[in-house]
Amino acid sequence: MKLVGLLGGMSWESTLTYYQGLNRGVRERLGGLHSARCLVASVDFAEVERMQERGAWDEAGAYLASWARRLEAGGAECLVLCTNTMHRVIDDISAAVTIPILHIAEGTADALLADDVRTVGLLGTRYTMEQDFYRSILERRGLTVVTPDEPGRTLVHNVIYDELCLGKVLDHSRQAYISVVESLKQNGAQAVILGCTEIGLLLDRETSPLPVYDTTLLHIEAALDWALKPA
Ligand code: GLU
Repeated sequence: MKLVGLLGGMSWESTLTYYQGLNRGVRERLGGLHSARCLVASVDFAEVERMQERGAWDEAGAYLASWARRLEAGGAECLVLCTNTMHRVIDDISAAVTIPILHIAEGTADALLADDVRTVGLLGTRYTMEQDFYRSILERRGLTVVTPDEPGRTLVHNVIYDELCLGKVLDHSRQAYISVVESLKQNGAQAVILGCTEIGLLLDRETSPLPVYDTTLLHIEAALDWALKPA
């Protein structure tokens, strides 16, 4: 089993899901008392959020690159960046280390294409829904990406930062998300990407009007496949 480096804290609410999922996955696959070999680096999310807000992506890239170097120096053999949004600076991070980074959007695209989904809704932070760094990866793989309208995007974004990243999972926000997913469905989406690592706390396959592709869970599976693949 290889040593996985989790670069998390963005927010720690979802890093918890990664840590638990990785360990449960190893137990399921190997049985007995097996658990994941991993290093967890967890940043102060308030610092990162301020850089996002200021559009200081170069600064954020340098900051996360320094944490990635620490993980590599500690022996991590691959990196899992536990946030969709901060894949915005993946080039800065990968330039700073020699170990591979498992891209969250690539694994998600693999899962969608395997299920023959062609048109997909995308929920995430405003950065993920509106900027090009994420959807371009999906589009390059042949997917058509549908995002909510402006009020919908604002709602989805605000619930992430004002509630989910603070550990608040509220029923009225779940209902609001369900309405947003309904509108994606009306606009042709066959499935929806939970493109923020905290959204799985709010929506799942039971509550969503469309089949869900939870990036956190898919990313964990990709890390498990990578860590346990025979040499
Ligand atoms: N965890 C979130 C994501 O997957 C949002 C927090 C962040 O901005 O990193 O995008």
